[in-house]
Amino acid sequence: MTEIREYRKATRCERGGRLRRCRRPLAGQCQYCALGFCERHGLLLDDGQQVCSDKPCQAKKEDVERHLVFKAAALQRNRADACGIPDCDAPLARDCERCLRTYCAEHLRDVVINVVRGTERAMEVVRLCHHCQTRAAMWAEH
Ligand SMILES: [Zn+2]
Ligand SMILES: [Zn+2]
Ligand SMILES: [Zn+2]
Ligand SMILES: [Zn+2]
Repeated sequence: MTEIREYRKATRCERGGRLRRCRRPLAGQCQYCALGFCERHGLLLDDGQQVCSDKPCQAKKEDVERHLVFKAAALQRNRADACGIPDCDAPLARDCERCLRTYCAEHLRDVVINVVRGTERAMEVVRLCHHCQTRAAMWAEH
C-alpha cells in the first residue's frame, strides 16, 4: 500500500534531531516529506524544486531526475505512436494518470493507493504505467 501525503504549510524549520527540532526561520518546504527547512537543512533549486537534506528526500530528487529523462523519452516514443516503455511495440491503449504519457494495455495497471490529507486517509485508484508503478513506493511517506 502506497501513501501520498498532501502539503501542509510549514512555518519553521522542522528538520534536525528527532528530539530537538531546528526551528530556524523557514527557507523552503520539502516537496517530498512536506517538512519545512531552513537554509542549512535543505536546498532551493533554480527550477523551483524544494528538497530538504534528509537522505530519503535526496534519493527521491535523484529518482525524479531519472523520471524526467524517462518522460522525455516516452514522449518521443508516443509521437511515433509507440508505447512509452522502451522497446515495446504493442498498440497504444491509454494514458498513465501520473506521467501522462501513453502506453499499451500491457504496461498499464489500476493501482490502489492510500492518500493522506491531514488526518484523513482515502483510498484512490489510479491508472499507472509500468514505470510509475515501480516509483509508487517513492511517493510514500516514511
Ligand atoms: Zn524532505
Ligand atoms: Zn534547520
Ligand atoms: Zn506513468
Ligand atoms: Zn507497452
